[in-house]
Amino acid sequence: MTETLANFELILAAITDGIVVVDQRGTVLYANASAEQLFERGALLGCDLAIPLLPSDVSQEINLIRRSGLGFAELRSAPITWKNQPAFVIGVRDITERKTDELGLRQASAVFDSTREGLMVTDTAKRIVRINPAFTEITGYTAAEALGKTPEILRSGHQSQDFYKAMWGSIASTGHWQGEIWNRRKSGEIYPELMSIDAVKDEAGVLSNYVSVFSDISKLKQTQSELNFLAHHDPLTRLPNRLLLLSNLQHGILRAQRDSKHLALLMIDLDRFKDINDSYGHLAGDDLLLQVASRLLDRRREMDTVCRLGGDEFTVLLEEVADAEAAAHVANEIIKVLSEPYRLLNGIEVHIGASVGISIFPGAGHTAELMLQQADSALYQAKTEGRGRFVYFSESLTRAARERIKIEADLRRAIQQGELRVYYQAQVEIASGRIVGTEALVRWQSPKDGLIMPDQFIHIAEAIGLIGVIDDWMLRETCLQGQRWIAAGIPPLTLAVNLSAYQFLQGDISHTVAQVLSDTGFPAKYLELELTESALMQRETEAIQILDRLRVIGVQLAIDDFGTGYSSLAYLKLFPLDILKIDKRFIDDVPLHRDDMEIVAAIVAMGHSLRLKVLAEGVENKKQLDYLKTLGCDLYQGYLTSPPVPAAEFQQLLMS
Ligand code: C2E
Ligand code: CA
Ligand code: CA
Repeated sequence: MTETLANFELILAAITDGIVVVDQRGTVLYANASAEQLFERGALLGCDLAIPLLPSDVSQEINLIRRSGLGFAELRSAPITWKNQPAFVIGVRDITERKTDELGLRQASAVFDSTREGLMVTDTAKRIVRINPAFTEITGYTAAEALGKTPEILRSGHQSQDFYKAMWGSIASTGHWQGEIWNRRKSGEIYPELMSIDAVKDEAGVLSNYVSVFSDISKLKQTQSELNFLAHHDPLTRLPNRLLLLSNLQHGILRAQRDSKHLALLMIDLDRFKDINDSYGHLAGDDLLLQVASRLLDRRREMDTVCRLGGDEFTVLLEEVADAEAAAHVANEIIKVLSEPYRLLNGIEVHIGASVGISIFPGAGHTAELMLQQADSALYQAKTEGRGRFVYFSESLTRAARERIKIEADLRRAIQQGELRVYYQAQVEIASGRIVGTEALVRWQSPKDGLIMPDQFIHIAEAIGLIGVIDDWMLRETCLQGQRWIAAGIPPLTLAVNLSAYQFLQGDISHTVAQVLSDTGFPAKYLELELTESALMQRETEAIQILDRLRVIGVQLAIDDFGTGYSSLAYLKLFPLDILKIDKRFIDDVPLHRDDMEIVAAIVAMGHSLRLKVLAEGVENKKQLDYLKTLGCDLYQGYLTSPPVPAAEFQQLLMS
């Protein structure tokens, strides 16, 4: 019995056809070597070959997906008993060769004339020797027009020389080329073709012809690009959809990363859209969405992308935003334009609002999906907080940005409504203890929030270009006050006015100064302009010219906050200055820290060596003053004498 089985297996192993035994579930119980070769799957034992098991002795043909390519097999199966189990034996014959021949024959016999593909045969000199009717149909050239010419007549001029070189290179080396190519019809129209070219050899293996088969794929292309468009755009507004957004965003992130720039994603949701849709119907809703889309597009900069995610959700992708602030500005602007009334098709006027969620790159998220998620959760936050507002993904950013935007709007109004004030802080000559000057410092007297200090709004004013207005106003106001004091018989004081670096480099500040002096009649020699190191360092040649012009007018020049920038004293030699103000930071720790004391001593000494007067800022106590006295420091300013106070109070200080 065992011997019979063993012999049986030996016989099976010797057969050139594949023999497979499977159980009733299709799992292989036995396979001979031929079968394993045929399936190209290694050991078959235990595999499921997914062969449909036909109970009777019927033959069937199956496709074999093999590593070496598609194959064909003919199967014949019969139920047997294998090791006492009901099973099937399957004979597998490889018929790949026969099948391919058959198909090849069919291809060859696909008669020239009836095929819908254009056919063109050329000789070795590439002269057209034969075409079919489809050729004429596609290209517009009749046989009479085409025969004897070269395929040059079809050239569109849309492929480069290199393209043709590569094409003929492939034909020369492999005998074949296939690809898409743009050709030109007789009518002049260009169109895309899918083309394959074969080099045909005669029996002796010598090149005899080229055969090219082509089909006009312009229709296909059209639908393809339409499909492509639809896949990436919202059909109603024709704006990019989520898919395209994600891909744009991903690219944007990479660009931002490369150029170390910021990127902001604003997710916008319309407030009350559902109400409009419900009360006026979907057509009205669609109309509204279209108007929203066009408002968003109107305010967009070139590198921004507006998308519709669906429903009443839109996004605006801002590339190259200066910072998180700038994104908040756009968000605010968007909320504003979307809140203006809409006139719908039916003539009805409606109002909606918008909420915006913002995510910023670089930030917490660095993939497109993450940024989208963050903008989404920020948007959710904005809606729960009461709509008509924006929220950053990060809470601290939101708070800071809102604060600044509020200050900004208020500040513009404050300037117009005369809420700015000048406060004066005494400058004292250390040797005599006399007040010889005063620094004018701006304050904002807000009817709502009380007295606001410059640290709260100067940098905002600089950022939004309002600093010039403030500084000009301060200059004029201070000179007017100085003139009033002179008129009141008060001994002349030096009035120091701060000039922002922005203002200093903007336009001709010397012109403004001359104008103010002549308008107010205040003597130039009593006006002192305080400049920071950064103002001077930014464009030094220009700065020197401006300072020279101011010098000619006769005003004094001070360098403010000395020691906080990076200028060296030697560098200061370049600039025509009169006064050097040591920053409060160095005075603070006198006399506690030896280091700072030494720095102060060095600054005073070197300032003097440059023939500058030295003023110490922020002197709060007697010990500090005493130390400065020992150093021979010329002037000081500080709470020890007085904080900055309004003009009237300062006047009393002078009298006391
Ligand atoms: P700054 O020019 O260095 O002004 C000196 C600041 O130190 C003033 O603050 C002054 O109040 C403060 N200070 C003076 N003595 C003491 C002291 O003993 N102890 C302490 N703790 N502080 C003292 P303020 O008025 O708040 O001004 C802050 C900054 O705002 C100024 O620094 C200046 O950079 C800017 N600023 C003020 N007014 C103007 C202006 O009209 N135009 C421009 N561009 N900037 C201004
Ligand atoms: Ca100052
Ligand atoms: Ca200062």
